[in-house]
Amino acid sequence: MFADQLGPHFLDAPDQPVLLVESKAVFRRRVFHRQKAHLVLSALRHRAREGDVRLVKAETYAEAVSNPGRARPEPITVCHPTSRAARGLVTRLPNVEMLPPRGFVTAPGDFVTWAGGRDHLRLEDFYRYARQRHDVLMEGSEPAGGRWNLDADNREPPPRGAERLGVPAPPPIVEDEIDEEVRADLDRWEREDGITFVGNDGPRMFPVTRREALARLRHFVEHRLPVFGPHEDAMLAGDFQMAHSMLSPAINLGLLDPLEVIERADQAYRSGAAPLASVEGFVRQILGWRDFIWHLYWYFEPGYRAVNELHARRELPKWFAELDADAVEARCLSDVLAGVRDRGWVHHIPRLMVLGNYAMQRGWRPGVVADWFHRCFVDGYEWVMTANVVGMSQFADGGRMSTKPYAAGGSYVNRMSDYCGGCRYDPKVRSGDDACPYTAGYWSFLARHEQALAGNHRMRQPLRGLHRLHDLDALLEQEKARGSRAP
Ligand code: FAD
Repeated sequence: MFADQLGPHFLDAPDQPVLLVESKAVFRRRVFHRQKAHLVLSALRHRAREGDVRLVKAETYAEAVSNPGRARPEPITVCHPTSRAARGLVTRLPNVEMLPPRGFVTAPGDFVTWAGGRDHLRLEDFYRYARQRHDVLMEGSEPAGGRWNLDADNREPPPRGAERLGVPAPPPIVEDEIDEEVRADLDRWEREDGITFVGNDGPRMFPVTRREALARLRHFVEHRLPVFGPHEDAMLAGDFQMAHSMLSPAINLGLLDPLEVIERADQAYRSGAAPLASVEGFVRQILGWRDFIWHLYWYFEPGYRAVNELHARRELPKWFAELDADAVEARCLSDVLAGVRDRGWVHHIPRLMVLGNYAMQRGWRPGVVADWFHRCFVDGYEWVMTANVVGMSQFADGGRMSTKPYAAGGSYVNRMSDYCGGCRYDPKVRSGDDACPYTAGYWSFLARHEQALAGNHRMRQPLRGLHRLHDLDALLEQEKARGSRAP
């Protein structure tokens, strides 16, 4: 089992002997978030205590697998890994047989059949196909409740005047002696082995065992799912988790099977415990988005990771790369960056509309931005970066998976959050001292890419707006002067 294949659905029988590998080289190659390193090591070491498991600590996987302490390497089977590099390794090792992938819902062959011949791959089409194929939230051949998509009910701003959404927080994790040992090892690696991390250490916030993951799933379905939908796109400075499930780290470690998560949500709808808008919104994330992103990783050519249709060539500034939230005055960006620094997790909208939007507006290299997300988030893995970051958030593929860039000015942040009230910038102001960096960045992005976006009918109106701006030159001059300084 790779370290992201830890649940029972990766085995053929519960008592099957398991080989796990803990590789230090992974942490030498990339500067990961400290809490991500903790999570993965803790999950591996906890798994090593369950069943017939041998945990080999080695510098590399190849070393561990080709010589796990025996004269002749034993034959090994493994489920299809989640990155091209790992798949390459598996296919090169003579004693390893690769099984089809597990941990996702739609089979690769079904995705290829669905995608074949389509000019544009859109989530909505794939999602409807998957609902029918797996009979989720269906009433015969019709979608439950008569509509496929309840997004219109799920785009509410945060409740007016509220500091918190008012849903019970997920039950806290109780650390144990394995966490203590992991923390001591990471401290030692930093001190003695020159391994470095980004972000702050902190109490473990996410599940590392199946038992912890199931407890979180149960709690979410009972207490948080019913309110997941309406405010799923909203942000509150005082409530970083809102009603999101925070299950991505557990699902991506393989502790939960996405299908069981979907089935629990479906049951909650059928039993009347959760309304359709919330359940549909949640199912769309997993059966739709998560699987879509996974399949696109393999479906698109290997070079897709490096596409850069908007010719974004600026490097990541140090304050962003090093999560220096205190250097940032813009309240939304400072708070979100602090969330990444302190937890390695923020929900989808801060990722897309605060971090990704800022990076795209400034023309930072998409590949470097993707690498940053991969390293800094506790749920970040190679497969999930490519389409989410390069495609969806940076529009570096020119629209192969989305209809328009997710670029937005301060008015979006203002409508969907309570950040702007206490901010030193004004979302309505484009130029001058109070100019919101998102608003100025939005217009400057449009001005820079006017030609590239001109053929996109969804961008026609914003581009028309660009020519009505009386202060465009001043705005562009100011943005140039800002350069890579923290806003
Ligand atoms: P919820 O809002 O409760 O959604 C439920 C589940 O749906 C998630 O747990 C996740 O498994 C799945 N999901 C929803 N959207 C996506 C998506 N676009 N791609 C994949 N799975 C999805 N997700 C990751 O798992 N790892 C990442 O490193 C990651 N990086 C992202 C970077 C950017 C720029 C963007 C725009 C999105 C990224 N996402 C990533 C997708 C999404 O933001 C997270 O899955 C989600 O915020 C995790 O929080 P949650 O578990 O509370 O999600």
